[in-house]
Amino acid sequence: MALRFFSDRNRPVHLGPYPLERLRRQDTPDLRGLPDARPLAVPTQGLAAAMADHQAMMDAIRDGLVNRARAACPDDEGERARHLKAFGYFNDTHMVGICRLPPAAHLPQPWRNPGIDRLANDLKTKQTKTLASGIDMIMADLKDSMEAPPSTIDGHTHAVIFLSARPRDPWPDEASTEWLEGAGPAAAALRASETAVVLANYLRLLGFDAKAHTETSSDVDLNRLAVEAGLAVAEHGEVSAPFLGLHFGVAALTTTFAMTPDRPLARYQPSLGPRWWLGWGTANSALNRDPFARRRFADGPHPFETLKRVDAPTTYIDEPRVPRVPKRTDMFARAQFGDLGKAVQDGAKGGHYAKKAPTAAAERRMLGAFVLLQDGPPSEGLHPADPQENADAIKAAAYFLGIDAVGISRCPDWAWYSHDAAGHPIDPPHPTAISMIVDQGFETMEGASGDDWISVAQSMRAYLRFSLLGGVIAAHIRQLGYSAKAHTVLDGEVVQPPLLLLSGLGEVSRIGEVILNPFLGPRLKSGVVTTDMPLAFDRPIDFGLQSFCEACNKCARECPSGAITAGPKKMFNGYEIWKSDSQKCATYRITTKGGAMCGRCMKTCPWNLEGLFAERPFRWMASNVPSLAPALAALDDRLGRGGLNPVKKWWWDLELEEDGGYRPTRHPGNARDLQPDLKIRPEDQTLAVYPAPLTPPPWPYPYPMDREAGILAYGDLLSPDDHRAAVARGED
Ligand code: SF4
Repeated sequence: MALRFFSDRNRPVHLGPYPLERLRRQDTPDLRGLPDARPLAVPTQGLAAAMADHQAMMDAIRDGLVNRARAACPDDEGERARHLKAFGYFNDTHMVGICRLPPAAHLPQPWRNPGIDRLANDLKTKQTKTLASGIDMIMADLKDSMEAPPSTIDGHTHAVIFLSARPRDPWPDEASTEWLEGAGPAAAALRASETAVVLANYLRLLGFDAKAHTETSSDVDLNRLAVEAGLAVAEHGEVSAPFLGLHFGVAALTTTFAMTPDRPLARYQPSLGPRWWLGWGTANSALNRDPFARRRFADGPHPFETLKRVDAPTTYIDEPRVPRVPKRTDMFARAQFGDLGKAVQDGAKGGHYAKKAPTAAAERRMLGAFVLLQDGPPSEGLHPADPQENADAIKAAAYFLGIDAVGISRCPDWAWYSHDAAGHPIDPPHPTAISMIVDQGFETMEGASGDDWISVAQSMRAYLRFSLLGGVIAAHIRQLGYSAKAHTVLDGEVVQPPLLLLSGLGEVSRIGEVILNPFLGPRLKSGVVTTDMPLAFDRPIDFGLQSFCEACNKCARECPSGAITAGPKKMFNGYEIWKSDSQKCATYRITTKGGAMCGRCMKTCPWNLEGLFAERPFRWMASNVPSLAPALAALDDRLGRGGLNPVKKWWWDLELEEDGGYRPTRHPGNARDLQPDLKIRPEDQTLAVYPAPLTPPPWPYPYPMDREAGILAYGDLLSPDDHRAAVARGED
């Protein structure tokens, strides 16, 4: 885990993780020594080759229709610049700069990724029967994008440039070295492209023309723009960025959206001294900028090797009695079919809850496009056969790309849905699961209430990251000769929480279906790649969370919908779990007027930590001294942790209106703070559950929920001990 001594809680998000504001600047860019612009040559083997389709897909959607209903967003050019930079940093870009777009930066001949044509051909023959709902719209959008004549950037006046740090080269004796060799430039270009394409879409949704430019498809000289925007200097035919040197990927967007530009960097920069070395006031420092500087990629960015491993998850799973349920039981699917009533259906129809805030809507298009790449036939491949070597190499590849935690386990039949979204039975095709988690990000979470206008984008950003990187890992496995499918939020066939438990990525928390990781807390989204590749399994972990959550009910207290139980764990569908009321939770998330979706439980949990050195004693005591759990939970409250930090609020509270435009919301925002004095007792809660006997049939037609039956079913749930006793008596 990268070492951080100081909090950056007083640093606004738009300043980013590096102290760019402390650099010396000048009025005009020094363009001497600028290299000739040329597209990135991507290796045709190894992990870089597996990225090719995802890069081409992003290149295919770097442009698009501009919303005719222009948003009512701030005119102030300084505020606009701060906003877009913060959005870039929210997406984990390492540096963002803005410049006016000089005509001389236009390429005489735009580059077009040749992979787009290959992709267009593949899509013509793509089998769509098992794909997500809404796939027809996604296909039509892509067809239009790929076949449209190239658009121009005439009239664009400004550019936003994004730099992504390149992962270090693999060490010669490291797992996966062969696959990772030469893949760094493509990986950095991929991550920079992700941000540029999403933010260009964001500006078009706001009603301003914008187009993204990547190292494989561009209308502009990206190196020149990096120099103009004060992110880099040109020297001897190379472009070098402070803090990153020559090791970065670059992408940009050009637009008609006017913003205050940055000033170019001076060629000579004085030393930034101990503040930079130690990270005073910035998230990144000389000490921690590369979590893999002294760690193997396969070991991950956090000290997972310090965790206590156990033979079985810390919560009981009665495997023979876990029923397989259809995908149709998913609460968001039920909402769309009207099972939760008309108000919820209206909020869910067409994914309205994801579109109502433009920051999330901007992520949605790419998320849909990646559905088309998450599965496919294996190629001939080399079929590497050693399970341990394969496991190390797959983990190394995932961490190299930027996944935050990876675990590998069996993928038992009971972890698969019984039927897919269209009602077709699922015959589990793969025995193994590679579970991955993506951090939703502490910084923006700190400025949010958890259920305000950024909440849905926090989820979408993490889902999108998995769709991109998990999709690349699945493609890589297929090119090695094995079958593999990425199960994403839009099209997944496995139930993910038990797989996270089996693969040692976390323990069951009071929040319910949310698995809590000791290093990321509950602040995560997961995705799974299933495969038939031989892989060694990880073991479950025990970091004391069961005792901690027994002593803490902060998430239950802070949940705005009252969906989280303050009572004990029960057996539900074969799992020992603090069973929450998913109906209440989904209803609130879909219909809340003061924001878009909700993750307030993640925000307020004491395990939602910044990652500071000073927090290590908390983690150690919480994990190793169960008797301290009540005191630690009380201390967390006394310190006011989980409250709002207005310094970190960067997003605009814009809401989708009927004409398709985004305007300042007319509803009071959910700007909640903590309620430490609220006492919540299980006997005061009325919760409902829908176990297997109450689930809808697998087919896509309405099946209204019977809440009274659900409430009775909650009352009938057995404790784990009573369940075991009933099984021993032969009562199934
Ligand atoms: Fe567990 Fe407390 Fe976090 Fe809820 S808020 S998941 S009870 S530690």
